[in-house]
Amino acid sequence: MNDQRQYVVIGGGLAGLAAAVWLAEAGKQVTLLERRGRLGGRTHAMKVDVVDDLPDNGQHVIGSGYDHLFRYLTSIGTRQYVAFPHHATLRWPDGRSVTMQTKGLGALRTLTGAHPDASLVERARTLVATLKLGRQCLNQPADLADLSTEQWFDRVGMPAKAREALWDWLALGVAAEPVQRESAKVLADVMATGIRLGIKHRRPATIGYPTTDLDTLYITGALKFFAQHGVQVRYRAVARRITIVDGSVTGVTLADGTTLPADAVVCAVPNSNINGLLDDLPEHAEIYAAADKLGYTPIVSTNLYLDRPLGTTAEFEALIGGTGVIDEVFDRQRMTGRATDRAWLYCLTTSGAYEQIHKSNEEIVAEQVELLRRYYPAAKEAKVLLGHVVRMPKATFSQVVGTHALRPAQRTSVPTLVLAGDWTATDWSATMESAVQSSANAVDLLLALPSVP
Ligand SMILES: Cc1cc2nc3c(=O)[nH]c(=O)nc-3n(C[C@H](O)[C@H](O)[C@H](O)COP(=O)(O)OP(=O)(O)OC[C@H]3O[C@@H](n4cnc5c(N)ncnc54)[C@H](O)[C@@H]3O)c2cc1C
Repeated sequence: MNDQRQYVVIGGGLAGLAAAVWLAEAGKQVTLLERRGRLGGRTHAMKVDVVDDLPDNGQHVIGSGYDHLFRYLTSIGTRQYVAFPHHATLRWPDGRSVTMQTKGLGALRTLTGAHPDASLVERARTLVATLKLGRQCLNQPADLADLSTEQWFDRVGMPAKAREALWDWLALGVAAEPVQRESAKVLADVMATGIRLGIKHRRPATIGYPTTDLDTLYITGALKFFAQHGVQVRYRAVARRITIVDGSVTGVTLADGTTLPADAVVCAVPNSNINGLLDDLPEHAEIYAAADKLGYTPIVSTNLYLDRPLGTTAEFEALIGGTGVIDEVFDRQRMTGRATDRAWLYCLTTSGAYEQIHKSNEEIVAEQVELLRRYYPAAKEAKVLLGHVVRMPKATFSQVVGTHALRPAQRTSVPTLVLAGDWTATDWSATMESAVQSSANAVDLLLALPSVP
């Protein structure tokens, strides 16, 4: 029987895009509402006219276990734009560097002692601690959700040098929070998922990156798909309230006062925008309270256009002991093959940027250039042609101790209303994979509804 339901997806970030694509793939009539004039949410490219370039709002890396994200890319025809490098570089301020293998036995060696000064004894202790960590990811101690990642590292006896070279910044990369604040459970869950997927696919867990800008990766293909499948996209359409009558969704009221009829809704907005939308849902107060408690963590991205190359040896490099909470340098020439006739572009990411976010653009650029000068000899003479700073005060929800179990499920008490978005309950931390995995769950719930006569 033909399903005549009108499906409305609220939010045109990755979660909403994937939900709209997969509902349309299943032959449903879909309208996508996005409050801004563009799609992509927290993943998008930004035109910088002065240098005629298209950097992203922030460098995004992709885990090899991002199965749902790859499914989305396959649906919109852009899977070919993700690469997995064989190695990355760790750098110390005195010029020393270590090549970190990201695949195979080399990766295992890295996990057990990437620090150049680690003695044999420290490497052996790192191996033991890493094995303990791995075991506790799969078989988690009952109190893990009450521990910070730092307390967990202490408990398994992770040596200081192993933390400095690898584990602290890896944990920060996973949860965008300093290890003193971050919930140990977040790292444990992500590692457990990585280990399980690695075993299932018989491939090592590793980190990849887009070889193109984020609009080409996520949006251009989606727009083509929408045109082919009759998905309507309404820009600057701000949803205010999802109307529910007698336990079923009937429509979505917009900020302009109009109401769009709807038989089923995927609500794919971030925790910062959920208030008001679910007022008709019996459990709305609980969801709003959780959204509020999950809070936010800031990320600052600095795109530095230089007049010369820095002398990087890998697509991405971690600066150990940097000024920010975590500092990574992404070489966009190596990653995307961009032309360098105008400038070399290096993207720096500071996660958990609680202090940096309050500084002026000039201060941030000066601080990041100073940082590069301590690590790369070539940076000493380099001229900054442009410093482009992107502040994301609400980059993701905050994954600190005490937030476990707050994330709401996709299923609600109203079968025709489902939630999606990186902050809803999934196997992953606040990532692109979490966003699209939540949509896969949400769409499955809607597709399992009995057909309407
Ligand atoms: C700088 C930065 C770096 C990151 N790095 C990584 C990384 O390396 N790897 C990784 O996996 N993840 C990373 N992330 C996280 C990742 O970007 C997010 O987890 C993901 O994009 C969230 O997608 P989403 O669809 O859940 O939410 P969003 O992208 O926020 O999309 C929600 C959409 O809903 C719209 N909306 C909100 N309210 C309404 C309303 N009332 N009506 C209509 N529309 C509405 C918004 O405008 C937005 O477009 C990073 C994030 C940032 C900011």
